[in-house]
This record gives sequence, structure tokens and C-alpha cells, in this order.
Amino acid sequence: PAPAPVARNASSETPEEHYRFHLHPGYQQLRIINDGAAKLGVSSPFFKLHEGTAGSTTQIGGKPYINYASYNYLDMSGDPQVNQAAKDAIDRYGTSVSASRLVSGERPIHRELERALAELYEVDDAIALVSGHATNVTTIGHLFGPRDLVLHDELIHNSVLQGIQLSGARRLPFPHNDWQALDGILEEQRHQFERVLIVLEGIYSMDGDYPDLPHFVEVKRRHRAFLMVDEAHSFGVMGAKGYGIREHFGLAGGDVDIWMGTLSKTLAGCGGYIAGETALIEHLKFLAPGFLYSVGMPPSVAAASLAALQRMQQMPQRVADLQARGRYFLEQAKAARLDTGSSTGLAVVPVITGSSLKATRLSSALFEHGINVQPILYPAVPEKSARLRFFISCRHTEEQIQETIRTVSALL
Ligand code: PMP
Repeated sequence: PAPAPVARNASSETPEEHYRFHLHPGYQQLRIINDGAAKLGVSSPFFKLHEGTAGSTTQIGGKPYINYASYNYLDMSGDPQVNQAAKDAIDRYGTSVSASRLVSGERPIHRELERALAELYEVDDAIALVSGHATNVTTIGHLFGPRDLVLHDELIHNSVLQGIQLSGARRLPFPHNDWQALDGILEEQRHQFERVLIVLEGIYSMDGDYPDLPHFVEVKRRHRAFLMVDEAHSFGVMGAKGYGIREHFGLAGGDVDIWMGTLSKTLAGCGGYIAGETALIEHLKFLAPGFLYSVGMPPSVAAASLAALQRMQQMPQRVADLQARGRYFLEQAKAARLDTGSSTGLAVVPVITGSSLKATRLSSALFEHGINVQPILYPAVPEKSARLRFFISCRHTEEQIQETIRTVSALL
């Protein structure tokens, strides 16, 4: 006869780390890092309290700083007309649409923003979601599956990786900006999969460089793959009008299958968008869980982003200024023999310090000197290429940039 079941005392056998948050291995690791930094006397560079609008300058703890820690590239967050558009939308529609647009309905401002984006990209349509990160997760997670392959630049953003994981597709990184290596992988492996997606960024946010997009378009066409470009850091930054990497290379809207971007940076709001052909946008609108089961964007946010987009179109000088200041920063940094890696001076210029501790110490010393810049540490980048990451604004002046480079050189 089968032995009688033994009464198990689950509460005494379950190790404490399986039901206590403070023993979670991730949290334990975080505490080791934070305690180590405290022992070395390095103050935390994270979660600083900005007391007003953060642009090329900001106020923290009652003191003014030159600020390189905001993605407010075209100074649209805080722009009086953008603020006014958001306030008007609140007066008209309230502060929330309180449910998914599919069920609770949309407001005219949602479609106005989406149509403006579609027009700018010269594609059929666009869809705006409440988070840039969630836009990548739900789009990739929904459109691709276990029989598919997703190839991505090795420096691609976390949101893309999370989307691939959700999709269950096979994931393969290729060396940074290397379309020839990508071509080689496709040559060998394309036949083993159904759909293939290639994912790039318009400007890489850790390095400030960009892919040779026409070559990637040619490769994706030859191998019958889909191409997705995340324009989080290239929209408003590249091209004479700020229309992004498409304008920079003079490509057509249809050359890329999935245009993705965020509303949080140049567009002074919060959220993400996908622009492309009708079949793609309609599919996402009716079936992508991150849109379908999530609240519609607050009308004030959609209004702010639409106003920022229109302001950008009215004032191409801001785009030209941003590009000029970025170039100036890069030239000055190079003249001071700082290691700026592969930066092109567009939007982001890193100064590579070579260790997480050095980057943290330098960021903290610069803060003492009135300059706010974030360190980027391992594991976000390899330990040997820990860095300070300078985000450029169209409002940074040449004097501020000179002062910054002088101070970094003196403290390094
Ligand atoms: N893609 C890239 C390349 C990003 O850098 C970011 C965030 N900075 C996102 C997506 C996510 O966008 P958001 O912060 O607007 O959610």
C-alpha cells in the first residue's frame, strides 16, 4: 500500500528569503552597493529633488545648477505655450480619461496628436500610449511570438529587451551599429524563423551615436524582415526640422516598418507612440494589451506633446541650436582630451571615466561645483566604461559648456 501522506509543516520548511522582501537577493545586492558607497563617503547621485522646471539649468536644495540630467532637448517642458495647452486641456476635459480609450472613449486631442505624428513620419497612422517603456514592451510582446526571431543592437534599451522576453521570440544581439554582422546572422538563420524583427535606436542614449540607417533598411528588405527604430533620443534632435533619423538620411516613412518614439523628451509630456501603416496601428489599437487594458493618456499630456510638436515645427532654430551646442560640447571635450567614446555630439555626450567609483565621485564633485550630471554605472554599461552622461539642451550657452569642460578636466 502507498505510504500515508506526511503532514508537511509548510511554515517551518519555507526559507525566510522566500517570503520576506528584505531578504530578496536583488534588495540585498542593492544594500551592499549603497552601504559600500556610504563607507567611501560618496553621496548618492540618484533621486535629486528639483524645485522647479529642469532644463539647461535647475534648482536643487535652493541652489542653482547647470543641468545635464534632463532630456528636455528643445526646452519644451516649461515653454509657456506648452504649459498653456496643458492647462486648457484640463479645463476642458478634466485630468483623466479614467479608462481605456477603447471602452471609455477618446478625446479629440488624442487623435490630433496621433495624426500630427503620422503626418510628420509620412505614414498612415500613429497610436499614443501612456508610457514609452510600455510602448516597446507591449508592441514587441504582442506582435511577435515563439516562432519568431528578434535581432537587436547590443546597446538597445531595456524596454525592447523586456518586450522580446514577453513575446517568447528567440533573441539575438548584434554588435553595435554593425549592419554587416546583422546581415551575416540573417544569411545563416533567417530560414529557421517565421517573422524576423530588427530593432535599432535613432540615437543611442549611452553613447550619442547613431546607426547607418539606409544600410539597415537595405538588409531588412533583402531578408524580408521588419525594422523598428526607437526614436526616444533622435526625435527633435536629428534633421534640420528635428524630424529625426528619417529626415537626417532623407528616407521615406515606409522604409521603416515600426517607428517608435517617446513623448517624454523633446515632446515635453509622458508616454510613447508607434507610427506606421494602418494594419499595424489598427492591430495595436484593438489588441495590444498595453493599450487595450490601460488607461488613455491624460488629455493635458496629449495637449502638451502636440503643442511641443507644433512649437518645434514653428521654431527650427531650437533644433539648430541644440545641434550646434552639442557639437560645441563635443569639440571642447575633445580639445580637453576627455574620452567621449563614439559620441557624435547629438543630444548625448558621455565622458568615460573607466570605473563606477570614479564616475560617482566625479559626479558628486561636479555637484559641489554647481554642475548636475548623472553617472552611468555598471551594470548599465561595462565597468571599464562607466561614465558621466551629459544631455545637451538647446538652451545651454557656450559659456556654460566652457565652464563645465574646465571643471570636469580639473576634477578628473
Ligand atoms: N526607449 C529609449 C531608447 C529610452 O531611452 C527610454 C527612456 N529613456 C524609453 C524607451 C522609455 O521611455 P519613457 O521614459 O518615456 O517611458
